[in-house]
Amino acid sequence: MTDRTSLLGKRVPVLDRGWIELQDMMGDDLAIVNAARVSYLGESKGPDRDKKLLFYLLRHRHTTPFEQVEFKFRVRAPVLVWWQWSRHRTWSYNAQSGRYTPFEDDDFYLPSTWRRQAESHKQMSEGELPESEAAELTAALAEHYDRSFALYQAALKRGVARELARVFLPGFALYYTWVAKTDAHNLMHFLDLRMGAHAQHEIRAYAAAIYQEFFRPALPWTAEAFEQFVLKGREGW
Ligand SMILES: Cc1cc2nc3c(=O)[nH]c(=O)nc-3n(C[C@H](O)[C@H](O)[C@H](O)COP(=O)(O)OP(=O)(O)OC[C@H]3O[C@@H](n4cnc5c(N)ncnc54)[C@H](O)[C@@H]3O)c2cc1C
Repeated sequence: MTDRTSLLGKRVPVLDRGWIELQDMMGDDLAIVNAARVSYLGESKGPDRDKKLLFYLLRHRHTTPFEQVEFKFRVRAPVLVWWQWSRHRTWSYNAQSGRYTPFEDDDFYLPSTWRRQAESHKQMSEGELPESEAAELTAALAEHYDRSFALYQAALKRGVARELARVFLPGFALYYTWVAKTDAHNLMHFLDLRMGAHAQHEIRAYAAAIYQEFFRPALPWTAEAFEQFVLKGREGW
């Protein structure tokens, strides 16, 4: 098992200017097993039997022991990611306020590629625009951001309140920072949905970072069981 101190404070870059960092964490695979054994007033019975019990729990959706493990992340991501992430009501959040802190000029998401609208599915994208067209769009977007930010600053200079001046900023592209806490049971639900083939590329990038960089090293048995009983067979997995 990975030493959890090597994960605490670790920051992983995501997208062009985003990141996710593990601020705090409580528990490990054994905490899940030990919580389950309380039902029988028992204790650890060695790694083989402990792992077997953990697999039994997940296979049979005996999920409450997985709530004994908690993760707290600090995330910096575009609002379009926040918009989707914050629908997960079982998480606890605290988000940056544009009413207190003015936005910086590099606070906008510039996609590295321009995905095409999928024809087969209204919500999805497929393929990319050719490089020449993509470069044009990227330049146009950067110009749009500069102009929006200049208007925002001009409004602030005139004395307009930060809470109102932000209407000049491109809302979905703004980078936001928030703190988000959840437990391993609800995190698996989030990962199942947001690593899925139907989730938007941007939130998938964050979900994949959580899974590969934090969840899997912190909870190797749980991750193995999660792949076997939940993810296996899912589209795109
Ligand atoms: C690919 C994709 C496309 C989406 N498209 C849209 C969209 O077009 N429009 C849109 O509005 N949303 C959309 N969503 C968001 C989606 O509807 C959910 O709000 C989001 O995924 C959170 O899921 P959840 O409610 O299961 O999670 P959580 O809020 O974390 O809840 C976890 C579980 O707790 C239980 N629970 C929580 N709250 C309640 C409650 N009030 N009553 C009963 N049970 C509860 C449920 O069992 C739930 O599954 C989309 C999500 C995905 C993954």
